[in-house]
Amino acid sequence: MGAHHPERPQRISAIEDQLIAAGLESALTRFAAPLATDEQLARAHPLEYVQAIRRAAPRAGTVHLDPDTAMNPHTLNAALRAAGAAVMGVDLVLSGKFSSSFAAVRPPGHHACRARPMGFCIFNNVAVAARHALHQHGLERVAIIDFDVHHGNGTEDIFEGDEHVVMASIFQHPFYPYSGTDNPASNMFNVPLAAGAGSKELKNAVNEVWLPALEGFKPELVIFSAGFDAHTEDDMAMLRFTDADYAWVTAEVKDIAERHSRGRMVSMLEGGYALSALGRSAVQHIKVLAA
Ligand SMILES: [Zn+2]
Repeated sequence: MGAHHPERPQRISAIEDQLIAAGLESALTRFAAPLATDEQLARAHPLEYVQAIRRAAPRAGTVHLDPDTAMNPHTLNAALRAAGAAVMGVDLVLSGKFSSSFAAVRPPGHHACRARPMGFCIFNNVAVAARHALHQHGLERVAIIDFDVHHGNGTEDIFEGDEHVVMASIFQHPFYPYSGTDNPASNMFNVPLAAGAGSKELKNAVNEVWLPALEGFKPELVIFSAGFDAHTEDDMAMLRFTDADYAWVTAEVKDIAERHSRGRMVSMLEGGYALSALGRSAVQHIKVLAA
């Protein structure tokens, strides 16, 4: 994204470092993500949009898609692999080979709307995952859980009114992208949190809004938009989650997944910009997924 941009390559190494430090390496099986195909992307975005992104990719230098979102000569490949990881995660989990997957990918995806890149995001990775599960594997009900500090406006744009998908989210509000509170669709369970909110407010939101919604929906697969920028050490926003909150929220959702989804969970990295907190929190999340 350019020098001094918070969405930087070191985010992935920070997660890798903490996985090693936690001794989790031996519990994980690693895969290199394939490139998503136009057919897979076009389940979440119009094909014209996918083609426009391919055309926008520069041979040299940087092009800006919006003030926050840039492409260099490697970005298209990374974005195609991030979406490809979504497809692969779904395939690995729905084949029964693994009960859960975590994709340590950049760029993130949840601000990418049907036909608009936004907020560091180019393709909506969780949307590609959900539509792959529905169309390729024939599932009827997929839940998307988004605990990134920013509202997943792109995911809402793609799925509002879609009877096969429920989205449960928390986010700081009022805050970028300033959406999620005005007339959300009936399949959206959005809980805006005020600046300064922390563990207590997260627990209330999950217990009072998310869990009843998920219990009623009985998802066959749970997909996480796993952003870690609501951490108290993350200066991107002003929520105060701790490392342990990420273990807690993952465990609560896992309980739903075990009862309704045969434990099947696919997780995609979204935000998280304080490198140490990102690595530690992602490990808390992955530990519960892998347990
Ligand atoms: Zn975010």
